[in-house]
Amino acid sequence: MPNYIINKNTQSNGDNEVHNKDANCGHMPLIENQIDLGWHATCHDAVSYAKSKWANNRINGCYYCANTCHTS
Ligand SMILES: [Zn+2]
Repeated sequence: MPNYIINKNTQSNGDNEVHNKDANCGHMPLIENQIDLGWHATCHDAVSYAKSKWANNRINGCYYCANTCHTS
């Protein structure tokens, strides 16, 4: 299962993006801005886990490494 992280910095569009750490994404946040989400079977699981932890944030998948979870 891939390991996911979330960017603790909010994007300019108001989203906090979830990245697949194992996908060699070129848009990963700096290591100090990554919050580990642990192992998840799919990016949907990772996003819903992050939403349960940060219910007041808009959370979205990265366009590049979690494209099926990218909505905005
Ligand atoms: Zn990414």
